Amino acid sequence: MNRGPGWGDGTRAVHAGKPAVPGAPLAPGPVFAAPFHLSADGDPTQGFFYGRNHNPTVQAFEAALEELEGGPTVLFPSGMGAIAALLGSVLSTGDRLVIPGDGYFGTRVYAESELPGIEVVQLPTTELAGFATAGGLDRVTLVLVETPNNTRLDVVDLSTLVPAARAAGCLVAVDNTVATPLGQRPLALGADFSVASDTKALSGHSDVLLGHVAAADPAWAARLRTWRTRGGSIPGPFEVWLAHRSLGTLHLRLDRQAANARALAEALRGHPMVGDLRWPGLPEDPAHDVVSRQHQRPPGLLSFVLPDADAVAHLLRSCRIAVAATSFGGLQTTIDRRAQWGGDDVPPGFVRVSCGCEDAADLVADLVQALDALQAAA
Ligand SMILES: *Cc1c(COP(=O)(O)O)cnc(C)c1O
Repeated sequence: MNRGPGWGDGTRAVHAGKPAVPGAPLAPGPVFAAPFHLSADGDPTQGFFYGRNHNPTVQAFEAALEELEGGPTVLFPSGMGAIAALLGSVLSTGDRLVIPGDGYFGTRVYAESELPGIEVVQLPTTELAGFATAGGLDRVTLVLVETPNNTRLDVVDLSTLVPAARAAGCLVAVDNTVATPLGQRPLALGADFSVASDTKALSGHSDVLLGHVAAADPAWAARLRTWRTRGGSIPGPFEVWLAHRSLGTLHLRLDRQAANARALAEALRGHPMVGDLRWPGLPEDPAHDVVSRQHQRPPGLLSFVLPDADAVAHLLRSCRIAVAATSFGGLQTTIDRRAQWGGDDVPPGFVRVSCGCEDAADLVADLVQALDALQAAA
């Protein structure tokens, strides 16, 4: 596609996967199709013949993500679908896989329970780069890192991990769900795969499940596509169309979410009820240096710890803007008490806030009055 050199994120997000074709709509609708017409001699027209193999709506969104990721991209019906495809395509019996022990719990559960014959090694996110430089990735087929990681927002310095993995002959996949390709570009940082749940900030409207894998090597993308076609896990066109529609505002949403996270982090930093505040945009945050070097923008997620589960319930009852929900990256600000789900090694009062696109002043006032109310009741 004809893309101007050095275009900014906004221009790229708005135009990604939308070629200007005379006579075609600016915003083509979803194409619903199982079989496509064939010519009399059986030749598929424009390559489309059956919806499990290809679909024009899916192809357009994959082209959009390819532009943002910088490598050919294969779409799946969820983030876990994308991770399952990646692990299923890359690993064979007897292989060793390294994953974060403190990343998204679904990835850990999948790796431990659905990969017979694969040795799975789990390590804390902050130890992965050191493990790699100490030769830990020798005889490891794939290391999947999650940076920043879903719950605590810990990070991996890819400029350390990637060369060490390469020297060991180990493939590197980065779960880029939190950052999105406008926050961090794993392929440009040397990773072999960028994998993500597009359910979160990328689609960003809390209305679809989707995921993707982008590969640096087109041969790996072809392998993933074959895996998808054989297993039948292509997403439906309506969800994909909604996500492509949403992608056009990704830069605006990310900027607003990060600005709201900054405002909240600065307001909550000194509050007596708030413990262990984490937001990588704060200079004192342990992830600040890596995020400053490795990211285009800080994430819209922050976390802190309240005394216990009751305190979180009290906070939620007092909030009028922030709502209780899991997942993250949507328009609405949401609060998730992670310990209620099990699976994460966090205290009962650990709170993850996903900043939405509301006005910062309203959001800050809402959270501060709820924390003040909690303090008054304590
Ligand atoms: C949510 C999430 C996933 C799984 O994505 P789904 O779309 O829910 O299947 C994977 N990785 C991370 C980091 C996530 O936050």
